[in-house]
Amino acid sequence: MISTRSFIISLCGLFLLFTSCKNSKEYSVDSAFADYLKRFETEASAHGRQFNPQANGLIIEFGNLSNNDAGLTHYETPIRIQIDRTYWNAISETAGADQMKEDLIFHELGHGLLGRDHLNTTLDNGDWKSIMCGGSTVNNRPWNINYRSIRRSYYIDELFDVNTSAPAFASTQLTVDTTGYAKSLYLSFNTEAKTDAGWPISEDASHKTSIDNGQLRFQSKVDSVYMVYASTPIDILSDFSYQLTLEYPAGSLTNQYGIIFGNMPVNSDVSSDPIEYFTINNNEKMYMGNRSWYSYFTELTEPSILTAGKNTLKVIKIGTMLYYFINSSYCYCSEIEITTSANQFGFMVPPKGTVWVDNLLISVNSTSKTGMKVKQNFQPEFKIQSAKKFNLNKGYNQ
Ligand SMILES: [Zn+2]
Repeated sequence: MISTRSFIISLCGLFLLFTSCKNSKEYSVDSAFADYLKRFETEASAHGRQFNPQANGLIIEFGNLSNNDAGLTHYETPIRIQIDRTYWNAISETAGADQMKEDLIFHELGHGLLGRDHLNTTLDNGDWKSIMCGGSTVNNRPWNINYRSIRRSYYIDELFDVNTSAPAFASTQLTVDTTGYAKSLYLSFNTEAKTDAGWPISEDASHKTSIDNGQLRFQSKVDSVYMVYASTPIDILSDFSYQLTLEYPAGSLTNQYGIIFGNMPVNSDVSSDPIEYFTINNNEKMYMGNRSWYSYFTELTEPSILTAGKNTLKVIKIGTMLYYFINSSYCYCSEIEITTSANQFGFMVPPKGTVWVDNLLISVNSTSKTGMKVKQNFQPEFKIQSAKKFNLNKGYNQ
């Protein structure tokens, strides 16, 4: 964010400049931010820009900001940046802390040292065009930005050159080969037989499962997110395809439901279990992320979502990339966060929600380099687990 008092503060700065030059080159950067400032200077140098804040002055300090502001840049002399302590501490406890902190500090230095304003346009795939997104909200979209892996180098190029051309990952065309996947596990949910229904058909105080018109009906009776999953011999490090049809006809439009894969919780109250998720809501929004992070990577508006009816979500993994499809339409690609073996696949049910699922299909590409032979006649283990902590936060403003 840019301080709205910046003009007044700049005048004060001018006044101070005439009365006393003592502090105009003050350099005071809290040790928490020093490494990110150094990275910025290194990136600036690689992009033909030289800064010497140690000599020219810069203040980066913690503050207690309001209105869900993560950072605030004051155009004083020297530039003074405040970072919200609550937000910084919150993201510090999550897997994506380093990327999120770099994004925040680079954004504020974009204001303070590069003189950049907010830029809230998007790329063709719906990603924010710039890490300079912030300020006045656009269609109530959260500021969550997928600042990771291949996106990082694009966003840094764009930070130093607003005319950087659109990156390949932002194309709406699918350019990879998604053939060669053979069925490994399929559930039709037509009968209560284990081979059709997978999960036990039962009821207890927290949930109820039943077969309803050729679908699995899962009713949650608790206030936490439910993860319903199966342990399989399919390693998510291999190239796989996972699809499931879901319907969530009642409940809040903002509640997320969708598919999950990875390592399910050992302790459901700990949010560090690395579970990948791909969710939608009945307000045409799509989300992707990993439970160990502070929140979803970004929110997208996807017209291919049927806001009343069944939606088929599919994710195809090729190498380190995940390709996301809704009702057969290609939507987005992004790196998988998990780098170690995991073999669980399932779906996510909103608090006290009832979800109908159908046609669960997991396929494996045995021809690819990372492919694997799946054992014949394996018996998946079906599990149901509520998760009290499931980070689905809105990112703070920057
Ligand atoms: Zn800003």
